[in-house]
Amino acid sequence: MSSSSPHTHCVFCQETGGELIWQNALCRVVLINDADYVGFCRVILNQHVKEMSDLSGDQQWALMQIVFLVEQVQREILQPDKINLASLGNKTPHVHWHVIPRFASDKNFPEATWGPKQREGKTADIGLLSKFKQRLLTQLEQQFA
Ligand SMILES: [Zn+2]
Repeated sequence: MSSSSPHTHCVFCQETGGELIWQNALCRVVLINDADYVGFCRVILNQHVKEMSDLSGDQQWALMQIVFLVEQVQREILQPDKINLASLGNKTPHVHWHVIPRFASDKNFPEATWGPKQREGKTADIGLLSKFKQRLLTQLEQQFA
């Protein structure tokens, strides 16, 4: 691993990065409070590491298994038309994955969520959020230490 000490100017070293759902030694899963994208999660590595290829193969796979579990629970509970997985980090070069349930009716579809607005968006029902959070936590606790 290249660099692991917390960085003073890195938001993911200083802050949780959303509503904490679950964490283990490797990473944390947080929920982003965004009315346009109900169920939008981030999986954030705990250590300050810039690129996926700075991680060992075991760490890469462990992290992606958690990303895929978040995706799976989003599909099950929120039933989106598509899942977007995004890892950019140009502004915050600290490994993290955006896991975003997308709907053909959402504000930006078929553009990226940060792309031009297409319409007054409709996303997953906010009423599903507590069920989603509960299911996500249960699955994470069952499958990962
Ligand atoms: Zn950081």
